[in-house]
Amino acid sequence: MEQIPFNRPYTVGNEIELIQEAVDSWHISGDGAFTKKCQELLEETLGVPKVLLTTSCTDALEMAALLLEIRPGDEIIVPSFTFVSTVNAFVLHGAKPVFIDIRKDTLNLDESQLERLITPKTKAVVPVHYAGVGCEMDSILEITARHGVEVVEDNAHGLFAKYKGKQLGSFGATATQSFHETKNFICGEGGALIINNPKLIERAEIIREKGTNRSRFFRGQVDKYTWVDVGSSYLLSDILSAFLYAQLTARDDIQTKRRRIWERYFDLLSQWAAENDVLLPKIPDHCEQPYHMFYMIVPNLDYRQNMLSYLKNNGVSAVFHYLPLHTSEMGMKYGGRPGDCPVSENISDRLVRLPFFNAMSETEVEKVAETIVAFKP
Ligand SMILES: *Cc1c(COP(=O)(O)O)cnc(C)c1O
Repeated sequence: MEQIPFNRPYTVGNEIELIQEAVDSWHISGDGAFTKKCQELLEETLGVPKVLLTTSCTDALEMAALLLEIRPGDEIIVPSFTFVSTVNAFVLHGAKPVFIDIRKDTLNLDESQLERLITPKTKAVVPVHYAGVGCEMDSILEITARHGVEVVEDNAHGLFAKYKGKQLGSFGATATQSFHETKNFICGEGGALIINNPKLIERAEIIREKGTNRSRFFRGQVDKYTWVDVGSSYLLSDILSAFLYAQLTARDDIQTKRRRIWERYFDLLSQWAAENDVLLPKIPDHCEQPYHMFYMIVPNLDYRQNMLSYLKNNGVSAVFHYLPLHTSEMGMKYGGRPGDCPVSENISDRLVRLPFFNAMSETEVEKVAETIVAFKP
């Protein structure tokens, strides 16, 4: 039986043409014409002071850790329900992760638990906007400002989404984006660091250029470039930036396609969900979502496992999502114990993500929904 895949990378059509243009211009390393175009487009659309394209969201998070001068003994607060990179980037520099539980409704970090986890060692909080639905940024910013703690938004899911009318990624001192092929806008592997605190911009450019002031040199601000700080190689090749530029300029078209799929799922599944004790995503009125994923929260783990194998046997590739980090092998080394983040543990067992990709047809969406509705637990 032909499977409806969980994801299928999408091309808008002119990616190869733009890559050819990059090749013909003899500049295919980082910071070429397409890198600059992507950065300017993002700065303008998001209304942020600086965007730097990076090799991945993971690398943008590592840059954020370097910018905040994370050292052994520092603590960072991260949701347990996230991708490993959210925490790894900081642990790599010796930080101790402190795991915070999530809210039952949006699956974002539970801001009501934030203050009691802050200690004099807390350096940063890393809110992850799950499925691109904004965390409660008003409370998070108020609490962190009062304690002198930095905010780094992991916005891998949420490009072009808004919280109270303001773009996600524009709240923290820095924020990170991903252009991995599983995200809304892709270039294979790629990412971006958004820098909202202007004092961090120059150092971010240095860190991204192997610890040199090469960016200042190219702007004619110094007459030679040299080693001035720590750094690494975080520049995205202009070949990939060209691919990404094709995608970003087609953003309205891509988001319209995704919105249709999401809304169709919601319409087709709402009644069944209500009658079967299944929860569909909750989007608070003050959040505009980017239609990154469609998930369901089913009654329990057995139900979830049965449903996933039933769907697979009936041609639908649905998947679960994050395993809580506090009970992972590494998380336990940092003192995580079962029971610490009960909502994360519970939701992780019950979550099902449905196939969701830009080119998904109406018929495919209907087939997935019909198959679900016919499920006998
Ligand atoms: C995808 C993802 C990342 C990592 O992105 P890469 O670009 O693959 O490094 C980080 N955090 C979250 C929440 C993600 O979903």
